[in-house]
Amino acid sequence: MSFADLGLSDELLRAVVESGYTEPTPIQAQAIPPVLMMKDLIGIAQTGTGKTASFVLPMIDILAHGRSRARMPRSLILEPTRELAAQVAENFEKYGKYHKLNMALLIGGVNMGEQVAALEKGVDVLIATPGRLMDLFQRGKILLTGCSLLVIDEADRMLDMGFIPDIEEICTKLPAQRQTLLFSATMPAPIKKLADKFLSNPKQIEVSRPASTNLSIDQSLVETSSRAKRETLRNLLRSETVSTAIIFSNRKTTVRDLASSLARHGFKAGQIHGDMEQPERLRELDRFKGGEINILVASDVAARGLDIKGVSHVFNFDVPWHPDDYVHRVGRTGRGGATGTAITLVTPEDAEAIAAIEKLTGAPLPRRPRAAGTDAPSEEGTAAPRERRDRRRDKAPREDMARADRAERPERADRQERAVPPAREARRDDRRPRRDDRRDRQDDGPDDGWNGPVPSFLTVGFTN
Ligand code: ADP
Ligand code: MG
Repeated sequence: MSFADLGLSDELLRAVVESGYTEPTPIQAQAIPPVLMMKDLIGIAQTGTGKTASFVLPMIDILAHGRSRARMPRSLILEPTRELAAQVAENFEKYGKYHKLNMALLIGGVNMGEQVAALEKGVDVLIATPGRLMDLFQRGKILLTGCSLLVIDEADRMLDMGFIPDIEEICTKLPAQRQTLLFSATMPAPIKKLADKFLSNPKQIEVSRPASTNLSIDQSLVETSSRAKRETLRNLLRSETVSTAIIFSNRKTTVRDLASSLARHGFKAGQIHGDMEQPERLRELDRFKGGEINILVASDVAARGLDIKGVSHVFNFDVPWHPDDYVHRVGRTGRGGATGTAITLVTPEDAEAIAAIEKLTGAPLPRRPRAAGTDAPSEEGTAAPRERRDRRRDKAPREDMARADRAERPERADRQERAVPPAREARRDDRRPRRDDRRDRQDDGPDDGWNGPVPSFLTVGFTN
């Protein structure tokens, strides 16, 4: 199967070839023809399987004919985070270079005035996060009545973030006669319900079992203790053939501490998390992509959208609190058909979280035998004094758990907000930075303030 068999235009095929893709991924091969035939579609495929191009490519050809009108976007793509929205925009730039399509991004953290100005000119493709879109809609800056194509991307993530009521509301503003595409890695009941309500006679494509992780990823658990975690990690980094690795931890503070600890031990390690300023994050990503560093310590926000090719290893320094995050983290390796390795460090306290992951993915995670040398006191004596202090902090699991509890609370509050009327919901994007500020002071919250890589045409508009 080649891209040429899918019915795409010659200009588009040229752009695809130039982007370096030779073969469509399974979701692309199955989704593109029915989308070109204007059918509604539900596409379920794990993270990293190329879902973006499976709607961006046919959309470019569909939108090639026709003209946009002021304030009336012709198509709408909903994304859960600004980072994912920005990545979809980059895809349009890359594949749409031989087409003249106007695009606008409506995401938090970007100057509202410029977004409105772009809309005034008329856009073919509007890419938005639900909160920001509702906000603008309520101010009368945008009309969705000319929008004949809707994409709800990363639907399960939308659900996690409490965006479903917003999406329902948005669906009612669009013309009933339209094409609707929904993409998700998993298909939980509320998403199924949403699809039943707003898609008409959709073609359903499921590339792999829901919530299963990629088969080309070699996954395993390595047992350790909170105290020995860093040493276990270092041993793994030395014994595995790690060309590039992303190491995930649950807290921003751990990201910072771990990155500097690894650097002290001679690893070429950098860090990325939501507390960093935008230019700093981009710099760190560039260092990673350019090979100056080969280890990136990251928090979960980075897991949702980071598109870095050829990461050989993913390490979970902490077992994620939410099993979905496991799937997303592990999906950073084994992308685009390459094989990858994902290793999760587990302590006895993690038993419950591991059970939840195994239940979600439907397969037990093989345990590697406890590595020799792990927990061995030999290296303990040679560790720098600072390092030993850090370890002592790691040693207090009860305090850690209390923190985890506190950190999760704001998110639960978030979920309850699903029930509140849209007028309040709509400000979500604007409210977020303030809430993050509060967390920053607390300094131990889950990291969801990401607003990372944006396409070049947008960098000017960033206000933070
Ligand atoms: P998903 O949305 O399913 O998580 P993405 O659309 O972000 O996945 O794509 C994952 C990665 O695969 C990206 O790095 C993308 O550039 C790459 N990719 C997409 N399509 C192809 C293809 N046909 N061949 C090779 N790589 C691809
Ligand atoms: Mg995606």
